[in-house]
Amino acid sequence: MTENTQGFNTRAVHAGQGFEPRTGAVVPPLHFSSTYAQDGIGNLRAGYEYGRGGNPTRDALQEQLAAVENGTHAYSFSSGLAAEDSVIRALAEPGDHIVLGNDAYGGTYRLISRVLGGWGIGNTPVDMGDHAALKDAVEANQTKLVWVESPSNPMMRISDIRAIAKITHEAGALLVVDNTFASPALQQPLDLGADVVIHSTTKYIGGHSDVVGGAVVLNDPVLAEAIGFIQFAVGAVSGPMDAFLTTRGLKTLGVRMRTHSENAMAVARWLQGRPEVEAVHYPGLESHPQHELAKSQMSDFGGMVSVQFSGGEDAARTVAESTRVFTLAESLGAIESLMNYPSEMTHASVKGTELAVPVNLLRTATS
Ligand SMILES: *Cc1c(COP(=O)(O)O)cnc(C)c1O
Repeated sequence: MTENTQGFNTRAVHAGQGFEPRTGAVVPPLHFSSTYAQDGIGNLRAGYEYGRGGNPTRDALQEQLAAVENGTHAYSFSSGLAAEDSVIRALAEPGDHIVLGNDAYGGTYRLISRVLGGWGIGNTPVDMGDHAALKDAVEANQTKLVWVESPSNPMMRISDIRAIAKITHEAGALLVVDNTFASPALQQPLDLGADVVIHSTTKYIGGHSDVVGGAVVLNDPVLAEAIGFIQFAVGAVSGPMDAFLTTRGLKTLGVRMRTHSENAMAVARWLQGRPEVEAVHYPGLESHPQHELAKSQMSDFGGMVSVQFSGGEDAARTVAESTRVFTLAESLGAIESLMNYPSEMTHASVKGTELAVPVNLLRTATS
């Protein structure tokens, strides 16, 4: 295990990344092999048997992910949603119930309601800022998992992770935090009381719009074993190339997040002064209703800024379709600036539900 006395960037660069002993190669080699020679039946050279169960490139990434989130165990998956599905299947069973934020990522809500709902998992979306409502929902349903995104996508609401962890644990449930937007460079939910952290590593951790992936990080060895079993038994693992690219991205996460945060602050302040703008959602602005809470659990505010236009849907669509440097595209977290019209793009799946997003809203991901 990497010691947490090391700084974030040192852990990001070195954890799981020791040089290769035979050649001295500073970057560990990329292992594509799907299977491993055995010296006798069950007599393995380095514990590796078959690529679904274990791969050295994936292991290197998992060690690095655990170190940057201050966790002891990490599991890497083929997408963020595969990571989410694996967490829920490992920690809940048919008949169990999940309380999630009412502004959760559209794909998370679709997975929980339409896929896992059919498997027998119930759900209640709540406003995570309303702690009385959260407590009532958790107690009334004997909830197994509470699912929080902070900052949330795309409304940039901040949830009080420490307070929600306390409410969750008093009710005997587990707290899962989707830390995709903040990234481990700016926020470490396990230190704030969360039981499980999940990521779409497609976003800031990968950081270059060239790989889709997901991660789960946690400290409890019993829960970790359950997740490791699902990873192995279902097999939604990262391929070796994906794991390698994600590791390479993660090494520079700290410096990228510093620049993303600086640039997003400049964009948010500029937008705030424009007459066409009705509201700017960025936790770094003093005008953000949870600015103080954000400061108490994040070391900076990240690269995501959402904006609502007074000219309504038409204005938002016109801006989205006329930018030159910002590319109109789904996703976020990479070195180019992207813009997304959530109600028809990332959040089209929650249109008409209580998780629907405003039609005059644009979400920007600043490089
Ligand atoms: C993109 C995203 C996901 C889903 O991850 P995929 O890698 O696209 O499967 C989950 N949560 C948040 C906050 C996201 O932005």
